[in-house]
Amino acid sequence: MQKLYAHNIRDLLKVELHRHLDCSVRWSTLVELAPQVGITLAPTSQQQKEQFLITEPMNDLGSVLNKFLNAQKVLASEEILSRIAFEACEDAYNDGIRLLELRYAPTFIAEGHSSLTFEKIHQALHNGVKLAQKKFAIAVGLICIVQRVKPFAVAEKVVDFAIDHKDSFVALDLADNEEGFDPKVFAPLFQKAKKAGLHITIHSGETPNDQAASWVKDSVEILGAERIGHGIQIVRNPEVLNFIRDRKIPLEVCPISNYLTQSFKTYEEHPIRQLLNAGVLVTINSDDPGVFATNLSDDYEVLHRVHSFTTEDFKRCNQIAFEASFIPKAEKEKFRKDFF
Ligand SMILES: [Zn+2]
Repeated sequence: MQKLYAHNIRDLLKVELHRHLDCSVRWSTLVELAPQVGITLAPTSQQQKEQFLITEPMNDLGSVLNKFLNAQKVLASEEILSRIAFEACEDAYNDGIRLLELRYAPTFIAEGHSSLTFEKIHQALHNGVKLAQKKFAIAVGLICIVQRVKPFAVAEKVVDFAIDHKDSFVALDLADNEEGFDPKVFAPLFQKAKKAGLHITIHSGETPNDQAASWVKDSVEILGAERIGHGIQIVRNPEVLNFIRDRKIPLEVCPISNYLTQSFKTYEEHPIRQLLNAGVLVTINSDDPGVFATNLSDDYEVLHRVHSFTTEDFKRCNQIAFEASFIPKAEKEKFRKDFF
């Protein structure tokens, strides 16, 4: 196998389908903004990283939630939101990404910021993206996230908001821990969104659970998912694996995230190679690069080192991601010649 160096990996043109905008704040920006929103920074740089970032596999959920809360507190104004959206696109562009789908949960950002309505949040983020697209040759699509842990009435409000803004959202997503939050409940909302013309992707089959594979199947059959966020637990159920392969449902796989959240104990145990070899449509994504202090190239580096991914494997995954991207065809096609 030809060895790929960091610069070879960074220079590969990439498509990223699964990146949370509200968890993609650039580290230098986070440190700059934290004191302005009332967060006291720890004295040393190492301690500051421990305050905000997840760089080791999670075993203490309390401290992890605190980190997400700190990251959320920083998203305090429209000006900040535009800036983080711009910087997320800039960082992605510099990492070789040319098609980028960014997702966020309006409820997550609005929480604790009473002045920020869904409308203000969306316009601010959208403006940041537009500004970045004037400067960098990158196509960007925004995905609206429904948090499954919120009451149904809140989920309904988010779905209606996404439908009202379908010109600037490409899709609707359902996120947060699946345990205890059966996907079926959300069926009427996702059917409504689909009818209105939004694409559907669903976070499912991420963490180990005996029902995880069946939730993936339900997400496709009942919620109408065209892609699955993670979905890696289908390796536990050959019937569902065959179903996902035969229905040609792409998986948005996030290797570093899966390791840090301990969906798999080690990188060696991660099933991405097994899924690819079985004919499942696999794409490679970074999930929360701000909170993990990573970029997409780091995920590629892990796959090259641990699972012997070659340039050809990466090209294959990017081809799958290109075709599966929800970014409108007219925009996407401008980039086809760069990729293929
Ligand atoms: Zn995610």
